[in-house]
Amino acid sequence: MTETFFQTLRCQSCTRTFEPRSIRTFCPECQQPLFARYDLSAARSRLDRSAFEGGGESLWRYRKLLPVFDERHIISLGEGGTPLLRLERMGKRLGIERLLLKDEGGNPTGSFKARGVSVAISKCSELEIRDISMPSAGNAGSALAAYAAHCGMKAHIFIPSDTPIVNREEAAAFGADVRLVDGVISDAAKAMSAAGSGQGWFDMSTMKEPYRLEGKKTLGYEIAGQLGWRLPDVVIYPTGGGTGLIGMWKAFGELEELGWTSGKKPRMVAVQMSGCAPIVAAVERKQARAEFWPDAATIAAGLRVPKAFADKTILDIIAESGGTAVAVGDRDLPGAIAECASQEGILLSPEGAATILAARHLTGTGWLEPGETTVIFNTGSGYKYRELMQILRFV
Ligand SMILES: *Cc1c(COP(=O)(O)O)cnc(C)c1O
Ligand SMILES: [Zn+2]
Repeated sequence: MTETFFQTLRCQSCTRTFEPRSIRTFCPECQQPLFARYDLSAARSRLDRSAFEGGGESLWRYRKLLPVFDERHIISLGEGGTPLLRLERMGKRLGIERLLLKDEGGNPTGSFKARGVSVAISKCSELEIRDISMPSAGNAGSALAAYAAHCGMKAHIFIPSDTPIVNREEAAAFGADVRLVDGVISDAAKAMSAAGSGQGWFDMSTMKEPYRLEGKKTLGYEIAGQLGWRLPDVVIYPTGGGTGLIGMWKAFGELEELGWTSGKKPRMVAVQMSGCAPIVAAVERKQARAEFWPDAATIAAGLRVPKAFADKTILDIIAESGGTAVAVGDRDLPGAIAECASQEGILLSPEGAATILAARHLTGTGWLEPGETTVIFNTGSGYKYRELMQILRFV
């Protein structure tokens, strides 16, 4: 029996294809990401969408639409299957009748990075890769460290020295080789290429390998299933490297091809912080590529990405979906965290709080209408930000 409908890897830009049974990174011609492609017409006749409904199980319930050929290579800590919560009280305050929060805080290592890493590291296992390296703004490195520990691989993680303390400590506790680098994630990436040259480490940088995206796309499958296969009108996503936004858009496209959903796909909104908003700047200036954002600074560590490798893909999706990009300010984060905590009993991460601020901005301008089903994200647990607790000073 077919374990997966995974077929090939394809460059989005030149459409060249690459066979996926050996190690692949990105397109050598265009320096653009590779996307996993599935035999969706075969899947359409053989898969039943009801098997994908309901929550509570890990994302591996979608394994026929994931890239691992042999199930024995699956490395899982129980990622995915997170709740899509109706925020009735916050919705009233924001003027949105149906405001839904995909709460990713309950994932292993407390963030949705677990989704991407579980799939990518499983694929590494299948391709017999043992040594993996990654520059990270925090959560991706911790997730990689945990999954590497779970299957006995070695992880080399390069993170800014001011990464939130919980991320630094958990990655080290998981036994990873953790290197602290002065600067931001792009400086960590440079330090990694210097230290890693000739070491044979596999580079797991965001969108520079094709499989973390496949893990992140399960967010889109889950949301669709949880909404009874009716896609939301608007998706508001806190965008750093953009894997979640690209992954969900890919998932919505696949579901359409499978015939499991119909109608318009959501308008995709990228949220960034005003101290690091390269995608927002590119949307405002109608540019096809984003420029490097100098001196990136924000307490929302996951959004401190001055240049996304997949910037072009992110911008294409925003345009194609009729979406937009919004920058919000660090100084408004504590208020939004406090508001959602007191109104809903949910302690958001700063990245999650940014989506609340963006929703408020978009209803204010009339871009988002009260009757539109809107999904926002808590991409990580608020409990990981000890530094933030000191800034909040509620007691
Ligand atoms: C990494 C991260 C993001 C950004 O995710 P991308 O998919 O890379 O854009 C947002 N929030 C948190 C908590 C993160 O760790
Ligand atoms: Zn190409």
